[in-house]
Amino acid sequence: MLAQDLEPSSGGFVQSLGALFLVASGFGVTLAGTPDSDNWGSYGRTYDQDHFSPLTDIDVDNVSHLGLAWWFDIPGIVLAESVPLAINGTLFFVTGYSVVRAVNGATGRLLWTYDPGVAKEAGRKLRLLWGVRGIASLNGRIYVGTHDGRLVALNAKTGKPVWSVVTTQPGDLRIISGPPLVFGGKVMIGHAFTEAPLYGEPGPPLRGYVTAYDAVTGKQLWRFFTVPGDPKKGFESKAMEMAAKTWSGDWWKHSGGGTVWNAMTYDPELNRVYIGTSNGFPMTAKVRDPVGGDNLFLASIVALDADSGTYVWHYQTNPAETWDYDATEDLELAHLVVAGTPRRVLMQASKNGFFYVIDRDAGKLISAEKFAKVTWAEEIDLSTGRPVETASARDESGQSRIWPSGDGAHGWPPMAFSPVTNLVYIPVLDSTGEIGACNSRGLDPSGNPCVGVDSLLAWDPLRQQAVWRVSLPGVRNAGVAATAGNLVFQGRSDGQFAAYAADSGNKLWSFDAETGIVGAPISYKVGARQYVSVMAGFGGGSSVVEPGKWKARTQSRRLLTFALDANARLPPPPPPYELTPIVDPGFKHSPAREKRGFASYTEHCPLCHGYGARAGGHAPDLRESAVILSAKAFAKIVKHGGLREQGMPQFQDLSDSEVSDIRQYLRARARKAATNQASEKRTE
Ligand code: CA
Repeated sequence: MLAQDLEPSSGGFVQSLGALFLVASGFGVTLAGTPDSDNWGSYGRTYDQDHFSPLTDIDVDNVSHLGLAWWFDIPGIVLAESVPLAINGTLFFVTGYSVVRAVNGATGRLLWTYDPGVAKEAGRKLRLLWGVRGIASLNGRIYVGTHDGRLVALNAKTGKPVWSVVTTQPGDLRIISGPPLVFGGKVMIGHAFTEAPLYGEPGPPLRGYVTAYDAVTGKQLWRFFTVPGDPKKGFESKAMEMAAKTWSGDWWKHSGGGTVWNAMTYDPELNRVYIGTSNGFPMTAKVRDPVGGDNLFLASIVALDADSGTYVWHYQTNPAETWDYDATEDLELAHLVVAGTPRRVLMQASKNGFFYVIDRDAGKLISAEKFAKVTWAEEIDLSTGRPVETASARDESGQSRIWPSGDGAHGWPPMAFSPVTNLVYIPVLDSTGEIGACNSRGLDPSGNPCVGVDSLLAWDPLRQQAVWRVSLPGVRNAGVAATAGNLVFQGRSDGQFAAYAADSGNKLWSFDAETGIVGAPISYKVGARQYVSVMAGFGGGSSVVEPGKWKARTQSRRLLTFALDANARLPPPPPPYELTPIVDPGFKHSPAREKRGFASYTEHCPLCHGYGARAGGHAPDLRESAVILSAKAFAKIVKHGGLREQGMPQFQDLSDSEVSDIRQYLRARARKAATNQASEKRTE
């Protein structure tokens, strides 16, 4: 079917659809005027996971009167990028290593804090990624995954744990980054981390899986593996037997992946869950599987029966995936009239740059078009559902630049779908692979930015075309929420929190959050007042790709909440970013040791402290840390775990000379930064 054959649905259908939602979901329904419309009860608000609020009190006409109602200061140097939940007047949110808080939704007053003590439990896992991005709620309980691999149920009134289960395997490197999903009395959780060996943490290959537990008792009900294991041990399911035929050699000894680290959606109409899986490991398909199988279920969207976890259908976005194009971006459900026929669809703006509309009854692809610059494929063949790859797509020489990069055209920050405008709002990143071609200012040989160009894109999923686009500064802007007030809200890495008209993209309002925003907003109501809430704070993956904007020690991490005619004022912002490199007159430069230190640093440290020792705000910039002045202090922290309780991992397995070489590298970087600053001053 051609995209031109698709017709938009009429307004009348949208209204009748509202009634359908009401009957079908029974939770987080999308109709205004019902009690649940006041709440934001799950990561994407409703089972549809469309990040859309039906509230209309704040709208295009009055949004210019939106002001800060209250804020909550989040203590510590922590990741602050989760989506809060708003349930009957209380906000629940998670930061960093699964510390959950409840605050009064109208005032921000703290009600309780729960800290699962991840830093004590996580061991080597503390070296991988940064914490979790969301929580779930059902019947008076809050569910949170912990970085080290536990799933914990909390009493929503008190914050006290009710039960806790370990969802990972002893000694493995599985960590949790995404929110749990609740449905039908169950709670399900996936895990990361396919690429652990790339971050200096080798281990046996990880097989991705999701696990469903009884929401009341924590008893395990079912587990679905996403890639097959050793055939001699027997396959866990018919699906794994089928998937094994798409792998060759002794794949189970050295390959894995397919982790479900983000996207999970429940479909109450069909009683199914949909999961999005990551790429594989080794990442390069030719290394992973020289024969060249599809490698199911890597880079796939898989539908499972919600009661039993039994496979129903799959759609693989990238057979024989080799570019780090995880299919883990959020999966949003909608009803669309396609060529005159109402269809239940599932939509994904995939990392690989294609926007997929899939019939979720049958798992059949309806349409797929490029929403960003894409050079790895010409198109998706709608008769087979498979991509038509370009000649250079698998060029192993490293000479070809591929769009999008492994960062993806759309990452985990959620998009939003409005059933009022029938548009999807996508935080888009246009970026290219082969970043080695870039100079220190982040420009390629033609002077174009290497790291990418960011935009907020309104996309018509029926016509599969752009409706409007707002270019944004920065390269890693935040997730989106839409409202029935014809509004789209999005935070930016430069600290602006902005509202746009959902139908036109006109910018109507913005607020200076005083730090970069990574989290996606929500909207909710307490009493007669509608609020918009967003977490501010720059860290995680965004800080890795956008260094030199915010500092870990000076930026404030906050939950910001807005209402009409509110006028609270934040304390003064931190001073503008300026590096103050350590001056170390006693430094004896050894290029050989610096080189070795660079290699060790690049293997173990950049996820938090930045590539090239240029930090982005997640953790301190070590070029201006006095710790590098003292060999003893440096070793105490790096090797002996002196700051482990604060989230700095312990690298007890590094040798003394490796630790010393890393310090040598950091001192060299500090001196270089100081020299550059001095020469810039001279030329001014
Ligand atoms: Ca990946």
